[in-house]
Amino acid sequence: MTKRMFVGLDVGGTSMKAGVVDDAGRVLASASLPTEAHHGQEFGLERMCETIRQAVADAGLKMDDIAAIGVATPGTMDIPAGLILDPPNLRPWQNVPVRAHIHKVFGLPTAFQNDANAAALGEFWIGAGTDAHSMVLFTLGTGVGGGIIIGGMVVQGEHSHGAELGHMKIEMTRPRQCGCGRWGCLEAYASATAVVKRTLDALDAGEEKSSLRGTRDLTAHVVFDAADAGDALAERIVEETAYYLAVGTTNMLHIIDPDMVVFGGGMIAAGDHFLNRIRKHVKELAFPVPAEKTQLCFATLGVDAGFIGAAACGRQLVSERSSA
Ligand SMILES: [Zn+2]
Repeated sequence: MTKRMFVGLDVGGTSMKAGVVDDAGRVLASASLPTEAHHGQEFGLERMCETIRQAVADAGLKMDDIAAIGVATPGTMDIPAGLILDPPNLRPWQNVPVRAHIHKVFGLPTAFQNDANAAALGEFWIGAGTDAHSMVLFTLGTGVGGGIIIGGMVVQGEHSHGAELGHMKIEMTRPRQCGCGRWGCLEAYASATAVVKRTLDALDAGEEKSSLRGTRDLTAHVVFDAADAGDALAERIVEETAYYLAVGTTNMLHIIDPDMVVFGGGMIAAGDHFLNRIRKHVKELAFPVPAEKTQLCFATLGVDAGFIGAAACGRQLVSERSSA
């Protein structure tokens, strides 16, 4: 019997999650362990192996049943070399040979990919993008992540810096500073963090009445709820956020003209009303044909997109080999 089971591992700053996925993208089992990056990279590499072993055991399988492994991590990274370089979310790791280590321990074909790119491949494979030929993913969370799939392949770039959609420039006249240290990036306007920051700035700047004034522990969720309840300041922030995302989306429509643009991450809890606002602005900003034809929708895999996409990367690795 041909082995067609894959393991995907998604390494995040707080926790890592591995899942066993079959050839049709069905998740058989998954396991999650805390990353605890502060224990150092030797510990981290061993923790990755432990998470993989646990997922395989939970699926009632042995490592012999697995055809390939895919590992997704946050950047910065050198994808062809299989290295994490200097990841801000995994301090103090540096120059970690992730792919070589996993390959050595398990003796299986091992793929390595950026986490946002992997999530895009996961959504493309069995999530929102199943029927698409090409797809762009924006992940709206603490930051803004991105992934581009064209013809079934991840656009990772020649220097592992492709599809950094959160850092496309959308405002250069009076730009806000981004988490990356640069200026005018989409992430500085449309991440959950940016929604909170823009709200606090608006509260500081004006006498405008708002139910949010004096709110402790303000979150993007609270701002969106206040907008739904009719708070004018919150309403303006949400409207502007939709506009900024429409600017980013329009840029992608004009650069690659994809079948579909998918929005994932915690902020999609804002719901269809928010998506409709983005759609409305894209119709105003973009060329009429892509504005009309490109589908804009929400992601469907949630946080599992990362490990499912990592498994898809492993699957592509052995599919390429067997068809070569
Ligand atoms: Zn940036």
